[in-house]
This record gives sequence, C-alpha cells and structure tokens, in this order.
Amino acid sequence: MEADIKTTPKGFHCCLCNVHIPNQSSLEQHVKGRKHQTLSTVRSTRKSQEERSVFVSGLKPDISNTDLAEYFQRFGPIADIIMDKNKGVYAIVQFEESGGMNTALTCHEHQLKGLKLKVKPREKKEFKLIAKKKNDFQNLQEVFDRLKPELCNQMSVNAQMQYMVERFQLGENEKKARSLLIQLLQEVFVEFFPDSQIIPFGSSVNTFGIHSCDLDLFLDLENTKVFQAHAKANLEQAGEGMSDDGRSEDSILSDIDLSTSSTAEVLDLVAAILKRCVPNVDKVQVVGTARLPVVKFHHRELNLQGDITLNNKLAVRNTRFLQLCSGAEERLRHLVYTVRLWAKQKQLAGNPSGAGPLLNNYALTLLVIFYLQNCNPPVLPTVDQLKHMACEEEECVIESWDCTFPTQAIAVPPSKNTQDLCGLLAGFFSFYAKFEFASSVISLRTGQSVPVETCQKEADEAMQEDSASKPHRGGPKIGPMNILDPFELSHNVAGNLNDRTARSFQKECQEAEKYCRSLQYQSKSNKGKSWGLVRLLTPHGEARQARAELLTISIPFKSDVLPGDLRNQQHFAKDAFTLLWFQRVCAVVEGIFLNILKCHLVSAPEILDAGDEVEALNSSLDDSGFSVESSVEPAPNTVAKRPLSSDSEDGVSPQGKKPRLSKRGRTTLSPWLWEQWHMVWAGRRKVRRELIKDSEAKAEGSCVELETQVTSHITEKEPELKEPLQFKLRPQVVVATESTSTLLKFQPIRDSAGDFQDFFHFLEVFLPKMVETMLMESVDHV
Ligand code: ATP
Ligand code: MG
Repeated sequence: MEADIKTTPKGFHCCLCNVHIPNQSSLEQHVKGRKHQTLSTVRSTRKSQEERSVFVSGLKPDISNTDLAEYFQRFGPIADIIMDKNKGVYAIVQFEESGGMNTALTCHEHQLKGLKLKVKPREKKEFKLIAKKKNDFQNLQEVFDRLKPELCNQMSVNAQMQYMVERFQLGENEKKARSLLIQLLQEVFVEFFPDSQIIPFGSSVNTFGIHSCDLDLFLDLENTKVFQAHAKANLEQAGEGMSDDGRSEDSILSDIDLSTSSTAEVLDLVAAILKRCVPNVDKVQVVGTARLPVVKFHHRELNLQGDITLNNKLAVRNTRFLQLCSGAEERLRHLVYTVRLWAKQKQLAGNPSGAGPLLNNYALTLLVIFYLQNCNPPVLPTVDQLKHMACEEEECVIESWDCTFPTQAIAVPPSKNTQDLCGLLAGFFSFYAKFEFASSVISLRTGQSVPVETCQKEADEAMQEDSASKPHRGGPKIGPMNILDPFELSHNVAGNLNDRTARSFQKECQEAEKYCRSLQYQSKSNKGKSWGLVRLLTPHGEARQARAELLTISIPFKSDVLPGDLRNQQHFAKDAFTLLWFQRVCAVVEGIFLNILKCHLVSAPEILDAGDEVEALNSSLDDSGFSVESSVEPAPNTVAKRPLSSDSEDGVSPQGKKPRLSKRGRTTLSPWLWEQWHMVWAGRRKVRRELIKDSEAKAEGSCVELETQVTSHITEKEPELKEPLQFKLRPQVVVATESTSTLLKFQPIRDSAGDFQDFFHFLEVFLPKMVETMLMESVDHV
C-alpha cells in the first residue's frame, strides 16, 4: 500500500486508483474501500499470472487452442490459453505453476504441426488503471468549452446560432471522405450482391450532421433478388448441361439465396464481407435485437462509426423529407443544431450505443418541425400540405405508407413568418414548456396534436377498414411523449422515452423559456460575462455556477458617498479606505433588508471587525463625528451573529483574525441568511403612487421612509406566503484599478413556489439605488 500512496502538498495521491485524497482519515477509508481493494486483487492476480505464462509466436491461423494445450501440457498442467483474436499469430500460454513455465523456457526448440514456434517469457507490464474513454458527451463538452469565448464575442443570438452551425456542421472534406468510403463499400458489396445499392441516410446527408456523426447506410438488395431470380431461372433452363464457367459466375451468389434466407443470415454475410474485404474496417458487430437489425462497424482511418441496415427504405425517405424541409426553410438548420446541442448538454438526448430512454436526434428534429408548423404564421407547411405540392411523378408509397412530397424545395412557397432565430428559439421552449405531452399525440402530417384516445380510435378503425388490403399495423405505442412518424403512422418515434426523460424535457423547456425572457439571453454582455446561447447550452454541473453568476448584484464604488475629509485620505491607505467603504455598504445593505424590506434575519456575518488601518481611520473620523455605524437602526433582534470569515480560496485572513484585502483584492464575508414572508416586490409602484397621493408631506420626506412604508403597506394588506422564501446573501468586495465594487451574491435556499427569481429581478434595480441613497444620506448627516 505504501508504494501506491504518495504524499502531495494537498494531501495524498493513490497511484493505483489515480485519485486525490485530502487527509489521513479519508486515506484510511479509501484503502479499505471497494475500488482500491478490487484493483489490488486484480493487480496481484495479474502479477501471479504473468509469472506463470509464456508468450508464443510463429503460429498460423489454423492452429487452435486445443493444439496448443496438447503441445504445452508436456511441460506442466495448463491453466489457460489466450489467442490473439484477429489473426491467430500469437498466444499466451498460462501454466498452473511457475515450474511449467520454466521447463517450457529451457526447451530449445518448439515444433507444432510443422511450424517452428518461438517461446519467450511473458512481458511484465506495469499495472495501470486505464482511464475510461471519453464519451460523446465529454467530447462535445470540450468542443463547446473551446467555442465559448468566440460565442460570447458574437453580436447577437442570431450570430451565435450561425456560428454554431458553421463550427459543428460536416465540412466538405468530411463529406468527401464519407462519399469515397460509400463508393468503396458499393464496389465491394456489388461483388457479393449483384446490382445491390448502398444508400446513405441519417445525419451524414440530412443536412443536420455534426463532425464525427455516424454513417448510416442502407444496403438495398431489391435488385439483387431480381438478379438472383433471373439467374435461377436461367440455370433451370440450361439444366444439367451448364458449363463450369456459368457456375463459377453464380458462385458469388451461392453463398446465400435471398429468397429463402433470413435477415440474420444476410447480416452475418454482410459482417463477414466487411471484416474480410474492406480495408481499415474493425469492430464489426451484428446487432440483431435492434428495432431494425444492423451491422455496426468502425473505419479506423476515418475514425468513423458506421451502421448498415437492410429493409430501411422508410428511413431513406424520411431523410429526404428532412432535406426538403431544410432546403425550403433556412432557419430550420440553425434551430435543429441548437436544439440538438441543448438537449445533449441537458442530458435529454444522446442514448449511449443507440438504445435507451432518451430522445434521439430524429425525434428532436421532428419536434422542431412540428413547432415551426405551429408558429403564427407557420414557418413550415404540414406533411399533408406538402403532399399537395407534389406532382404526380413524385407520388411515393413505401410499405403502403404514403410518403409523397415534392422532390425540390422550390416547390414549397416561402413562409410569411419573419421572426428571427433568437425569437424562434425562445418560442420553441415556450411552446413545449406548456405542451400536454402525456395526453396528446404529435402529428406532423396535420400539424396538430391529437388526444391520445382519438388517435387510438382512428388506428382501430383504420385497421378494420384496411385489414384486407394492408398489413396488420395497430396504433402507435403510447407513452409519456408521443411523436408520430410523419410517414409510418403506426410508429411513435419517442416510444423509447420513460416518464423521467419526458418530465425532464418539459422542465428544461420551462427553465429555458424563463432564461430566454431575461436580458442575459437577448443582449450581449459588455463585461465579458457569458450570455445568449452560452448560458442556455451550459450543462447541469456548471449550471449552478452560471446561476450564481446570474444572481449577483454589483454596487460600484463612488467616493462621493464618503465625507470629504475621508475622500482626501484615499491616497494614504487605499486598502483600508476600500474596506471601510465595504463595511459601510454591508451595514446599509443589512439595514435595507431588515428595515425597509422587512426580511427576517436568521444569521448574519459579524459587522466588520476593522483592521488596524481601518481602526486608525475610524478614530480620526470619530473625532470628526463620522461613524461607521449605518444610519439605519441596527436590528433590535439581530440573531446569531457569526464571526467574520474570509474567502478560503483566496487565502485571506483566517477566522477570528482581522480582515485585510487579499493580494487578489477580494474579501468575502460569511453570508447572511434571510427569510421573507411577503411578496414585498410585487405591486410596489401602485402602493407608492397611492401613498404619495394620500400624504404628500411624508413623500417629501426621505425615500427610505417611503420605501419602508410601501413594504409595511404590503405586509399588512397582503397575505403571508405559505412558506417563507429563504436565501443567502454573501457580500464580497472586489478591488480593481478602475472598478472597485461590492458584489452581493444571492443564493436561494428555500423557494418552493419559485418566487426568488422575481424577487431578485426587483432587487437588481432597487438595491443599488437604495444603497446609494442611504450612503449619501449618511454623508449629508455628517
Ligand atoms: P445522429 O446519427 O447524428 O445521432 P441521425 O439523424 O443520423 O443523427 P440516427 O439515430 O443515426 O440519427 O438515425 C438515422 C436515421 O434513421 C434518422 O435520420 C432517421 O431517418 C431514421 N430514424 C432514426 N430513428 C428513427 C425512429 N425512431 N423512427 C424512424 N426513423 C428513425
Ligand atoms: Mg446517424
């Protein structure tokens, strides 16, 4: 264990598990823990195996495990034999005892089936925990992180959306590489399946593809079946006298007869062709359990994941439909890219390995199209309307589903809707924020949502009507989200979703809707803060941090809020001066919450215990009658005052010591904890107007007085909240050459009714003004 644990300046590091451990007691727990124990056991087993194994090379693929076992057991009992999977050219022979290994190594010559084998000690590798491969999500996150500064530099949300498409879309070279691979596959497959066709579909060609998206291919064997049928007929006609030449031509086909073979058999053959005949292909795997069975493969050089399916004409057709929509309406692409990325960042989409309870990209794209059909005026026509825009030659029926729409986008009249991307995106979220997912079925054919019961009834009726002429279909599988495929009307494209995903989707839409109403979404931040799409696309882990940034109010430093003689001393002790100002702002803020907004104080940071310089300044000021106490009365029932603590990450003075500005010019106090029992932020303007009318004299008094009265009026007249709103408020002073300010950082602690955001919006305007007024008043009093 000692060898695995290294001491570091911040605690310990376990080299075996590659983790940081902060202290001794965590270290003891870690070492006893499951991960460390399992890895230790695996390592010692691995070591003991290495000490009993030999590495054998010089094999040929026809040598089997049994051949090796038979040969090597003459040196000692064998525990295991591991052959290299791909080529069968080397093996590891593991003996039960190290004696077997030693005897094998002392033997000078090893011969098996006429081959001279090379036998060496097995290489001893250092045991290392292999870091898990980054998943799609992490990769996407990294790309997005790199783009953030550039995104923030854009001038508008529209520009941000355009930028995202430019950065994520498939480049021309990528498209070319993909089409060359398709060409190569076509040439190989046609050798085995004459007249067959490889047709790409999905994101590689539907105009919504991103770098490294998979390559979906449909192997169309219709013509091969015809070819085989002809060949068979010819063979029968020619009878027994068929020449050898004729047979050899047919022998390509002799592998499989498509008229009698099962899908699984064809897929196995496809997999074998990929493995043996296509260079640079690995990880070939038949997945027969998918809704549409598929052969998966990986192309090493292009680092590309490919899928080959059979019987997938509908997917090729719905890909054409997506191409048509994006050709007819340019804004669709920008919206789809953004929504796909948003859904992935919020972990609503991107099922690992295809299957799972999350949305897939096709379903998301249909949600965007359906929303655009429902805009006013519509941005895209319904599928039924598209059907009527097609001419006779464009009629298309697949598996008895009507898949008719125009081939060319020019046939679709341009939309009268002129909304920009920023507005359309916000509209998408508000549309689905209140959508009744569970009780309705989304139909892109009609552009309407249908109640679940109606949809089921229609399906039953259609089944009875059509049973003679059409295959058995039934209605779509109804679930927490129901999106009818626009062509295969018995298929719910979101049928894989579970309740949780559907709920999260709606919740995220609601959050996004709220955010899109804020200024942070609509206008560029001049202070270099993240804004627009950047915040919208921030994944969950970072969301809290982003929200924290969002809930900060800045009170800029103004020297005229301090008395003249103090202003003159600025240059003597700048730090002390800033601290004094910060102290006064804190006192004023406390007064505002306590006396003007009538919040209840649960706990507070202790009033700043000033440093030496501040004390010196204070005493000189006290002489001149200036007091550091705020002009606001201290709370009569101030509770549980806590000692001042400084921001630990900034390494400023530890608890109990006198505060000084840290080297980085920041000092943070421990937070206040406040409770508010009334909606004191709502309807203030009206009350204020009434009060001014009723008693002009009072209104002419101080603003502090008026605002206090407004709050009293509300707390007396309006009912209490069911549960108090509870929030933390942490003040921090930040010193910069040009812009010293106090930051007031809010954090909602209890907000069951979701009121905090409104309260905060009110405070954003109210607090800075109020603080200034009160500071000025205190100066005037001097
Ligand atoms: P990406 O590969 O980038 O995730 P994609 O659009 O290619 O996006 P896939 O899941 O690879 O999505 O699906 C490929 C194509 O198969 C889709 O474009 C669509 O034509 C079709 N498809 C996928 N899922 C469904 C489904 N649930 N119902 C009908 N067709 C589907
Ligand atoms: Mg795909």
